[in-house]
Amino acid sequence: KHASKIKLEGFNVGESRKRDKSDRATREQVLDPRTRMILYQLLNRDIISEINGVISTGKEANVYHAVVLPDDALPAHRAVKVYKTAILAFKDRSRYVNGDYRFNKGGYNKGNGRSIVQVWAEKEFRNLKRIHSIGIPCPEPLYLRQNVLVMGFVGDKKGHAAPRLRDVTFSALGPEEEEQKYKDLYVQLLTYMRIMYHSCRLVHGDLSEYNVLYHEDKLIMIDVSQSVEHDHPRSLEFLRVDIKNVSDFFRSHNVEVLSERNIFKFITGE
Ligand code: ADP
Ligand code: MN
Repeated sequence: KHASKIKLEGFNVGESRKRDKSDRATREQVLDPRTRMILYQLLNRDIISEINGVISTGKEANVYHAVVLPDDALPAHRAVKVYKTAILAFKDRSRYVNGDYRFNKGGYNKGNGRSIVQVWAEKEFRNLKRIHSIGIPCPEPLYLRQNVLVMGFVGDKKGHAAPRLRDVTFSALGPEEEEQKYKDLYVQLLTYMRIMYHSCRLVHGDLSEYNVLYHEDKLIMIDVSQSVEHDHPRSLEFLRVDIKNVSDFFRSHNVEVLSERNIFKFITGE
């Protein structure tokens, strides 16, 4: 049987507690003991076999590349999104919640903060399930445990993650073909937004060229922890912002975008 491995950058840093400010970037990658325990459990249970390195370090989550080597199937790549626990992720936000008794009751740094993170992870997992089951391209949600979400990896066979729409270049194409390409992708994205609205009853809520990957000529929806249902009081407001972001991006690539009003009608209309 293969040996389970973790080769995470900063994985052991938590044990040597570095406190100087200059080391902040490293410290933010530190995994707390509970998160490390969950990763070890995933390794032991062959949900993943190796964690290789970080794909993305964000304010609220890190995404790691992992590999699973099943006994009875081909090896496969995985993406593991680790939501940062409250103490680290909400450090900069503490001033927003410190005056709020709901967050301070029982200690903001202890129980409550952590459960907020777990709720987010769970929301992302459930939203992904809904989006995936309807057939909109998105990572396949595979496993959730507290603040750790294991999903299908979007990228090539060598383990290179797919680029974000923001970072795609069609350098091999001539200018006209490139323009056509963006037109096609624009239509593709609007169609996904419409299906997501009607069939999943969800509004993405943080949609932009940063939260869409491009892989094998398709757009892949990611980062849906904040996606909301229709009955959320602000869902249509969020949808308008999503529409604006999408319009701005494609306009900047010379696509003649529809009016935001008409896109809104297209997405929400019967
Ligand atoms: P954040 O909350 O940090 O923005 P995201 O869900 O947007 O988290 O993921 C951050 C980045 O990680 C993405 O921009 C993408 O590059 C990469 N990523 C996320 N999920 C996957 C995946 N399933 N496969 C490959 N790369 C991914
Ligand atoms: Mn994101």
